[in-house]
Amino acid sequence: MDKIIRCITTDGAVMVSVINSTDLVYTAKKIHSTSPSATAALGRLLSAGSMMGAQLKDNGASITVRVNGQGPSGAIIAVADSKGNVRGYVENPNCETKHYTDNKINVAAAVGKEGYIDVIRDYGTGEPYSSRTELISGEIAEDITAYYAQSEQIPTACGLGVLIDKSDGEVMLAGGFLAQLLPGADETATDKLEDSLNKLEPMTTMLAKGMSVEEIARTVLSGFEVEIVDEYPVHYVCSCSREKVINSIASLSNAEIKSMIEEDNGAEVSCIFCGKKYIFSADDLEQIIALKGEGKKL
Ligand SMILES: [Zn+2]
Repeated sequence: MDKIIRCITTDGAVMVSVINSTDLVYTAKKIHSTSPSATAALGRLLSAGSMMGAQLKDNGASITVRVNGQGPSGAIIAVADSKGNVRGYVENPNCETKHYTDNKINVAAAVGKEGYIDVIRDYGTGEPYSSRTELISGEIAEDITAYYAQSEQIPTACGLGVLIDKSDGEVMLAGGFLAQLLPGADETATDKLEDSLNKLEPMTTMLAKGMSVEEIARTVLSGFEVEIVDEYPVHYVCSCSREKVINSIASLSNAEIKSMIEEDNGAEVSCIFCGKKYIFSADDLEQIIALKGEGKKL
């Protein structure tokens, strides 16, 4: 079962989140039938997105992380709630898998780096907050680190990993960590964290050893006294509903809805995040047009 743990050092210098996201990346692969490099790229972003979501304080808030490096994978999106539950999407799930380097998939070659990472926080009240930084490598973890440094002025270290079975493309392990210096961090704490990060093994190596999220968090923070803030399960969760699809159809012009009636005698809408199909008959669509005309809230 997937889990997130959040820890703080007792001196108040560092906050760390660690996720084991194996099941949710496995689910994403199954939903989107992704190629190995698309699985690795989407899996990394889902893992990061989940940890970033878990940092939102408000229940009901959500975070969208979008990476578009103009590479063969196209845009990749992860959307998470404040409990770290996440869903995602990759524009080209079939993108070719470029060579394995040191047994690792070249994620940067799939993602590209000629573009941006966009982070949008939506607290459900008013306009969402959005910020953008340029991608630096397309490896995603480094891009998340750069995002926090540039957009939020938070010194951050991020590690993400997805291990894929070369023979059948299945997800074997996935996870990540996010370590952030808090305003109270002094030079000693910064050096201590850097020291620990330099010795850190790759995420998938630690997971393959069977280390728990707590053991990984304590390893990231070796040399510090650690307090666990919280630990809970996370899942791949889609929040789509027929009501939401009706609202998005209603946002189209009447002429557009009418052409669906005339040309297709209805509409079939698939959710891009979970693949669920919503079917609307011509009558259903007529009803949406009628309700729009009355100015009713749908
Ligand atoms: Zn859905």
